[in-house]
Amino acid sequence: MTILSTWSPVGTPAGGVPAGLADACLRVGRDLLGTIPERLPAGFRWMLAEEGPDGLPAGPALGWWAGEPLFWRGVDVTLPDARLALFVADLVQDHLTGYAFVQWPECPGHTHPLEPVADAGEAWWRCPASHRKLSPIGLLAGPAPA
Ligand SMILES: [Zn+2]
Repeated sequence: MTILSTWSPVGTPAGGVPAGLADACLRVGRDLLGTIPERLPAGFRWMLAEEGPDGLPAGPALGWWAGEPLFWRGVDVTLPDARLALFVADLVQDHLTGYAFVQWPECPGHTHPLEPVADAGEAWWRCPASHRKLSPIGLLAGPAPA
């Protein structure tokens, strides 16, 4: 695996990271830091890597870095912005649920987590039971700072 770039959870990556992917990471990073900052690995960063010969399928992979790769998944960086936001939210949610045993984000008043969904233009968190929209991805903890 070749690390192409790492950047802070709500930071702007150096060149080489597609803008849509950088924005998707920023949105999910805001939701994470705005809701469960104490549950996140110290000093973690987004990681864009190129999977090597043993990593199939070949191509770019997105994950977290904290001195070493923590987890990653191949990503289609040509997806529309809303689909990328859904991808990143789903990737992080899967990791937190499966490996950190953190149910995130909490659905208010329910015992299940919210689920990320997207259509052609928007990505948001919704209650998996009522399908009620709770928040756009990126605004879970309130309005973005100006
Ligand atoms: Zn619910």
